[in-house]
Amino acid sequence: MRLSEFAGLDAKMEQLMRSAQAGRIVHALLFSGPHGTGKRSMAWLLAQTLLCASPGERPCGACPACKKCLNEAHPDVHSVAPEKNAIKVEQIRRLTDDLSLASYEGGKKIAIIERADSMNESAQNALLKSLENPTGDALFILLTDAPGALLPTIVSRCLQVRFRCLEAEDCARVLIARGVEPGRARLLAALAQGSVGRALEIDGDADYLPLRERVLGALEALNGPGGVARATAKIGDVKGREADVLEILELWARDLMRVQNGAEPLDVGNRVRLAASRYRGSDLLRRVMFARQQLKANLSWVNALEFMDFALAGENRG
Ligand SMILES: [Zn+2]
Repeated sequence: MRLSEFAGLDAKMEQLMRSAQAGRIVHALLFSGPHGTGKRSMAWLLAQTLLCASPGERPCGACPACKKCLNEAHPDVHSVAPEKNAIKVEQIRRLTDDLSLASYEGGKKIAIIERADSMNESAQNALLKSLENPTGDALFILLTDAPGALLPTIVSRCLQVRFRCLEAEDCARVLIARGVEPGRARLLAALAQGSVGRALEIDGDADYLPLRERVLGALEALNGPGGVARATAKIGDVKGREADVLEILELWARDLMRVQNGAEPLDVGNRVRLAASRYRGSDLLRRVMFARQQLKANLSWVNALEFMDFALAGENRG
């Protein structure tokens, strides 16, 4: 991926790339922003730029260092990701030990910490020690969609770059440039709320759009007596896709709110307008948020659905 392929780039990021091309860089970066906005790709592109061996424009994309970075297999780039939902202190210790050794190829040593917010407190404290006493050639790049979960002392030691979603139209344009058929690109851009990475994920997930149909069908089943039970039965068994169901419901709720506030919905067709005449998007959204909390508190999916209480309007009006 090249810098020109990133749409809607923060001006700070462009400046950072220029510094990297000149071989100058701070020792800690924090890339924050929603899922799928290019934080990870940008971290690798930055690493590639710093490690590229070309005497000309960097990254050249052709030298051995570039190729290793493109394969995410450069010995001087260490990547850490959560194991079972958390980054543990041992992982951070291993990482800082690795970084303290001389680099294999004589250049910088780079650590990419994915989902940095999943570091538990002792892991964050271990990292903080390294950030407080940086060694000359190490660069830490922390990636997160929840910077608020990081210790303020960590955030303050990093140069923060914010990544954002695109307008749906711009997102669709990026997808079309990548070969997605225009009609599908517009739908994906809307469903991904302008996150290119998320749109590509949905594109590659054959089950997502059928699941969405099922969820919207469940909402439609709310009308009439016994509607809540019918709706719950339709999505009571979603086999590990609970988060996707809640995401679909949230997007739907936000689209209803758009209609109810007099704006154009993202969804095409009359379905969203019909639903908007039956129940309030803000009520549905509140229930979705509540269900998410219940799941975090380890409640079962069916119980979370019951707590969510679909009685938006259907029960009363049926
Ligand atoms: Zn190169």
